[in-house]
Amino acid sequence: MTDEPVYLDYQATTPIDPRVRDVMLPWFDEMFGNPHSSDHAYGWAAEQAVEEARIHIAELIGAKPNEITFTSGATEANNLAVKGTVRAITPDRNHVVTCATEHKCVLESCARLEREGFTVTYLPVEKNGLLDLELLENVLSDRTALVSIMAVNNEIGVIQPLTEIASLCTRVGALFHTDAAQAVAKMPIDVNVMGIDLLSISAHKLYGPMGIGALYVRQKPKIEIEPLLDGGGQERGLRSGTVPAPLAIGFGEACRIGLENISEEAHRITLLRDQFLAQIFGSLDDVKLNGDLEKRIPGNLNLSFPDIDAQDLMMRLPSIALSSGSACTTSSVASSHVLQSIGVEKRLLHNAIRIGFGRFTVEKEVHFAAKEIIQAVLSLKNVTQIYEKN
Ligand SMILES: *Cc1c(COP(=O)(O)O)cnc(C)c1O
Repeated sequence: MTDEPVYLDYQATTPIDPRVRDVMLPWFDEMFGNPHSSDHAYGWAAEQAVEEARIHIAELIGAKPNEITFTSGATEANNLAVKGTVRAITPDRNHVVTCATEHKCVLESCARLEREGFTVTYLPVEKNGLLDLELLENVLSDRTALVSIMAVNNEIGVIQPLTEIASLCTRVGALFHTDAAQAVAKMPIDVNVMGIDLLSISAHKLYGPMGIGALYVRQKPKIEIEPLLDGGGQERGLRSGTVPAPLAIGFGEACRIGLENISEEAHRITLLRDQFLAQIFGSLDDVKLNGDLEKRIPGNLNLSFPDIDAQDLMMRLPSIALSSGSACTTSSVASSHVLQSIGVEKRLLHNAIRIGFGRFTVEKEVHFAAKEIIQAVLSLKNVTQIYEKN
């Protein structure tokens, strides 16, 4: 083991793949052209590489390159998808449906639409974190403009039934957007097979660089979107601003590698995850898994340890980088809206940790982490018992 903590926080961000970094470097250096400069070779080279990247991104989700719009990340893609479509749609469709466990950037975009006069339904989820399709069906109508449901939850890793949601949307003529930041390159996605109209991606969740992402927008039939930014009209007018060529090119390479490895990687990570769980469940008897075990990406576990404060636990684990609740909101002491939504009891809300495995996780790290967590939990239990006796 090196001195660096073992990284088990792959839902917060993934380390950049060295192959991605290598592909990016020349574009920070001698190949510095603006991809929108059409008058010289610097610009042409950057443009060509950016368009190749766009092809790789599209291929990973079964889309066409002209359906991919670069953004600064999934936050911006979600804002553009949710606010951009609803603001541009005909006034007789003024209803939006989302769910309680969405990422804050979707929930806050919906809240802004409410302030603008639109109606938003926030669907609850079941105890396993999954959407109840009957509830969804019941709230949909010919007034529904957009349904935005995430593909994979960033805290508890559960996979929503995207194909079924899409077909319910089709029946009432509503658009279907999915925040797929945690899903792309982790599970097979085909926007056509699944019937997805808009889909958000983040490069730094799939071993690419931070600061770039994309929104997939179906081209046929055409979807009207009001842009968030006014400017030079790049990205077919949807997203003004210079596309950051080095980041876009790295993002493309990350998608190319992701597509190549997707099933083998999922298999390898599932084995590691199962070894970890077996070790934990073998030594601790009252651990609770949050979120469905089957309908879940392999690289995520969310575990509650009754009577153990997650902050105390992590303080005893300086050699492991993991997260309590969600790292995606800045106030770490607030209880997780996701755990609350799946009905985790109040006294257990601060007892949960999120463990994320990924491409660079190896077996000995998993064993080490499980051993450390077990020891820390047992010692904290002893402290609690001694305290209770006195
Ligand atoms: C990380 C994440 C985001 C935000 O992505 P950025 O690219 O960091 O803006 C949005 N949704 C989900 C589900 C995420 O995991």
